[in-house]
Amino acid sequence: MIDNDLAERERTKYVDCENHDRRRRAFICQHLKEGSKNGFEESFETFEDMEFEYEDDDFVAWCNECEKVRVEEGSLDGKCWEQGEFKIVCEKCYFKIKESNIENLI
Ligand SMILES: [Zn+2]
Ligand SMILES: [Zn+2]
Repeated sequence: MIDNDLAERERTKYVDCENHDRRRRAFICQHLKEGSKNGFEESFETFEDMEFEYEDDDFVAWCNECEKVRVEEGSLDGKCWEQGEFKIVCEKCYFKIKESNIENLI
């Protein structure tokens, strides 16, 4: 018997990327792009192809400006989420963007 909840969760956890086919989804704020240098804040340390510790986990990243709002608000939800206009990208795109935006690269 098929677990519908699980099927639904699996379906929504993935995204079709025009460059990378079907991958896990990730969320990034509107200010993060490949080639930009706007910082890269995450709710937990991520690496490519990692297994999530909790099934509700998602890749979520935001820039330095959104981080200021998040710190003020004490939460990623609400104002920060609104002004960040978070969008979905695929996991591969997420890590390309991470590479370009992350600071402290030696
Ligand atoms: Zn941002
Ligand atoms: Zn992609």
